[in-house]
Amino acid sequence: MIVPDKIIRSARKTLAVSVDPFGRVTVRAPKSCSEERIFSFLRKKEAWILRTKSKMQRAGIDLPPENLDGYAFLLLGQRYEITLVNERFVRLDDMQKRIYLPEKKAKDRLVQWLKENAKRILSTVTERKAREMQTSYKSVTVNSARGRWGSCSYDNALHYSFRLLFAPKDVVEYVVVHELAHTKHKNHSAAFWQEVEKYVPDYREKRKWLKDRGILMQVF
Ligand SMILES: [Zn+2]
Repeated sequence: MIVPDKIIRSARKTLAVSVDPFGRVTVRAPKSCSEERIFSFLRKKEAWILRTKSKMQRAGIDLPPENLDGYAFLLLGQRYEITLVNERFVRLDDMQKRIYLPEKKAKDRLVQWLKENAKRILSTVTERKAREMQTSYKSVTVNSARGRWGSCSYDNALHYSFRLLFAPKDVVEYVVVHELAHTKHKNHSAAFWQEVEKYVPDYREKRKWLKDRGILMQVF
C-alpha cells in the first residue's frame, strides 16, 4: 500500500498524485474527499508511483536532512560526508572524504563554500578549455540556478550553477565546452554539436549523466 507523505486539500475537484525528486509522494485532493477515495486512487496509481520512485533511487541521491550532520553528497563525483563541528570555518579532509561544517547556519556556510570553490574551479577549467578551443569569453559567474547547469549570454558572459560541482570532472568539462561552443554558435545547430564533439567525443554520455541526475539541482 502506498502511504502519501503529504496530503494537500484545496478547492480542486479531482485527485492528483506527484512524486518529488527525492521520492516523496504528495496527494492533492478536494476538501471533502474521503480517505477511502484517496487510498483507492493511490492503489490505481501504485505501479506508476513505484516506477517513479525507483527511478529517483537509481540516481543515488538522498534528500538533505534538516540537520546536515552525517549527510553524504557528491563533490566532483566523489562521496563526501558532512560532520558538524563547533568551528569557525568550513574544512575539507580529502583523505577521510569528510567536510567539517560550522554548526551555526551550517547550510548557508556550505552553500557559500560550494559557490567559492565552484567559482575557482570553473574559472580555471573555462580558461584552459577556451585556450584549447581558441575562443574567448567575457566573464565567469557562479549562481544558484536550479533550471540549468550553465549558460552563455549574447555577449559571451558565462554562468554556471554551483551545483555543477556535484558532477564528475569529465561532466563538468563537458558543460564548460558546451558553453564555450556557444561563443561560436548561439544555438544548438548541427554545427554547434560538431564543435562540442571535437573536444568531448562522448558528449552524449555526459548529457545523459546530467539528464539522469537532474534531481541534483534540488540539493541544498
Ligand atoms: Zn546550450
